[in-house]
Amino acid sequence: MKIAVAAALALTVSTPALAAGTLPTTVVPVLYDISVTPNAQAMTFTGSETVQIDVKAATRTITLNAAGLAISSATVDGKPVRHTLDADRQLLTLTLPAVANVGRHTVGFAWSGKINQSAAGLFAIDYTNQDGSKSRMLATQFEAPDARRFAPMWDEPAFKARFRLKAIAPAGQLAFSNMPSMSVAKQSDGTQLYSFAETPVMSSYLLYLGMGDLERKTVMAGKVEIGVITRRGVVDQGDYALAEAKRLLPYYNNYFGQPYPLPKLDMIAGPGSSQFFGAMENWGAIFYFEPELLFDPKRATESGRQRIFTVVAHEMAHQWFGDLVTMQWWDDLWLNEGFASWMENKSAADLNPDWKARASAVAFDREGAMGVDSTAATHPIIRKIETVDQIGEAFDGITYSKGQAVIGMLESTLGADNFRDGIRRYMAKYKYGNTVTDQLWSELSAAAGQPVAEIAHGFTLQGGVPLVTLTAARCVGGSTTATIAQGRFGMDAPSKTPQTWQVPLVVGTLGGGDTRTIVSGASTDVSVKGCGTLLLNKGKGSYTRVMYDQAGHDALVRDYTRLPLEDRLGTLADDYALAAGGYQDLSRFFALMGRVGVDADPLEWSLVSGRLGSLRNIVRGTPLAAPLRARTVAILDPVLKRIGYTQRNGESPLVGNLRESLVDRLGDNGDPEVLRMARTYVGQLATNPTAIPPSIRTPILSTFAGNATPADWELLLKLTQAETNPVAKNRFVSLLGAAEDDALATRALALLKTDTFTAPQKAALLRAVSGGHPDMAFDWAVANRALVEGLLEESNRSSFIVGLGAGSVDPAMPAKINAFAQTLPEASRGAARRVVAGIAVRKAAVERLRPAVQTWLASGQ
Ligand SMILES: [Zn+2]
Repeated sequence: MKIAVAAALALTVSTPALAAGTLPTTVVPVLYDISVTPNAQAMTFTGSETVQIDVKAATRTITLNAAGLAISSATVDGKPVRHTLDADRQLLTLTLPAVANVGRHTVGFAWSGKINQSAAGLFAIDYTNQDGSKSRMLATQFEAPDARRFAPMWDEPAFKARFRLKAIAPAGQLAFSNMPSMSVAKQSDGTQLYSFAETPVMSSYLLYLGMGDLERKTVMAGKVEIGVITRRGVVDQGDYALAEAKRLLPYYNNYFGQPYPLPKLDMIAGPGSSQFFGAMENWGAIFYFEPELLFDPKRATESGRQRIFTVVAHEMAHQWFGDLVTMQWWDDLWLNEGFASWMENKSAADLNPDWKARASAVAFDREGAMGVDSTAATHPIIRKIETVDQIGEAFDGITYSKGQAVIGMLESTLGADNFRDGIRRYMAKYKYGNTVTDQLWSELSAAAGQPVAEIAHGFTLQGGVPLVTLTAARCVGGSTTATIAQGRFGMDAPSKTPQTWQVPLVVGTLGGGDTRTIVSGASTDVSVKGCGTLLLNKGKGSYTRVMYDQAGHDALVRDYTRLPLEDRLGTLADDYALAAGGYQDLSRFFALMGRVGVDADPLEWSLVSGRLGSLRNIVRGTPLAAPLRARTVAILDPVLKRIGYTQRNGESPLVGNLRESLVDRLGDNGDPEVLRMARTYVGQLATNPTAIPPSIRTPILSTFAGNATPADWELLLKLTQAETNPVAKNRFVSLLGAAEDDALATRALALLKTDTFTAPQKAALLRAVSGGHPDMAFDWAVANRALVEGLLEESNRSSFIVGLGAGSVDPAMPAKINAFAQTLPEASRGAARRVVAGIAVRKAAVERLRPAVQTWLASGQ
């Protein structure tokens, strides 16, 4: 699954607690024959199934999963049996009249279920066509444990089986599943019976069914048909994804050493959105929400285009890592998600080298991981998952971003070829099976001829970010000997027990040599050829922060422009974080930033722009806010002038990304030129919906919305109501909540009590209000709790509401969040704890950084 950006750090669920991984293994499914008949108008469906099972030890009870289903009959070997459904534990138990002996048997069920409005089980997506008519698309979302809302199943990843699915679709609609349809039979009432081919052995959470008024377009990649499936009228917007998927399939076939095993690979675009995920890797039938898959050249930015590649690359990597080889249990979810996230950049670096994906990962992805991992609320990558709540919580920034960073570190430590060979061994050995993490380490070790687990365990079995510190360096006889200490880097109170890792580290001297070492104890000496400026974690391949002594840092500032790009980015990011954590003064970051020239790499300016945005939050509401705004404009405006306001022929895609970032940042800081441009463009939208150049459409709209006057906001509301493109409409709805003006935020909240928007749109609007008005949004949600809960997937209610308060600087907020958490079951309070911890970290950073910002602004440098 690819989680939504906004939810990446705050995902949790609060469905009933359930002892997990506890289905008895004495009975295992072999082959499911499932038939379903949806009634989209009534939002219900009926189903029946026959499951061939293997009884491994004689038994009188059979236990599997079901949730939210009304079971009307249950049979074993054709004879009716008694069944009981434990709704809290989502367990369906059959009690047999006599013992079932070891061997092959069949169980059968008939049931009815409901079609959900949000993405769990079988769900509906409602949208408006260009001609104003209404349509309803059906799709399924089964990860983590929601296949059991579709059919009674052994709904745990280790119970792999084959699936044969049949479904009734209305006349004129198309239906799709993991495998191609073998036949479509017209029924007497005009409906169509789709029979899909049998799947390979796979986990239940990967099954898919979708139907609607759809179009499909295909290309061949070798013998595999790749399809893009959309609502009618926009299938050409899938061309970009289709072309990239055609390049990715042979790339992955080669990388994994196993050919993609299904005859087709569809990518289905749903015209809606979820607050919680962007796409799902159902085997052979990947589901995406539209913005993650469809490229609309009239409206999409360059970064939006790159995002499509990223998500497609992620989901396609799962077709092997996750679908062909699956984690044994959710404890090892990171094997799926860390690997797929890492593969986004690996494949981009090889297939789209001008995106500089490795350097970009240093500047952004690595920082995302370390941000979460350096607070007391972090946790190990691998941890015991025992309840459904915890399964949901596992989809977080540690699993995805830290997982990605750790895999990247192991690749750079073992060497890219050794690492790939280890992955090939692992795929060959475990295809169609399930694994635990140590089985991956074994194969990597065997391929590389060196132990992996010793290094890896420090990063996967304990939480936290290492900090390596240069304490002394001396040059003797043409070589530098450096003394390096290590400990934990923490944004809040350091842990009482000292922590260490085995940190693989490349140490280099500028103009000299590189040496590889492993920092293992509290302190290590390392020797490297040359006496030039010393670089620790050269290339920034390892997952660690680095701090220099004063002489070492002075040399880095002096030689900054001569450093490799990854080291410029990584050192800027380390310096900022070290200051926020109280390890060193922010003046070191400013000294380095002063060396970023107007024509520096776009990634450097994107990073600087991001940190200036962070500082704006640090001084918000203080007398420093106005001078910092002016200073930010003075620094960034010349860079924007240099690259231009609109796309130039032949420019690097990274320049496109930087332009978006700069227009956004300058607009946020009230730059009069950007603001004037935003008002002019948006004023033209009523008569020309594509008046804004696509390359700056997103930041122009957010500038307009953030600085909106009451008249601007009225215009935005009119544009929102008139918009027929579902993706553009969703974006407009969120913009209504982005105004900095308090009165306009209040008006946005009032819209939630009208029937102007759909439930997912209202949830997005409320989250947008919380961006600039966290206290107002949180208080409103608590006061209107039933209404807000009605907007959300049941599994996300508690985390969503506490997340609204996350940006608050009001000292009263932590107590308010804790009071709210008291109304939740104990198992659902994790998100509240993380939000409160995050607020404390930010408060401490504010206290540390404000004086340094003041000094910097006063110095005028
Ligand atoms: Zn994923």
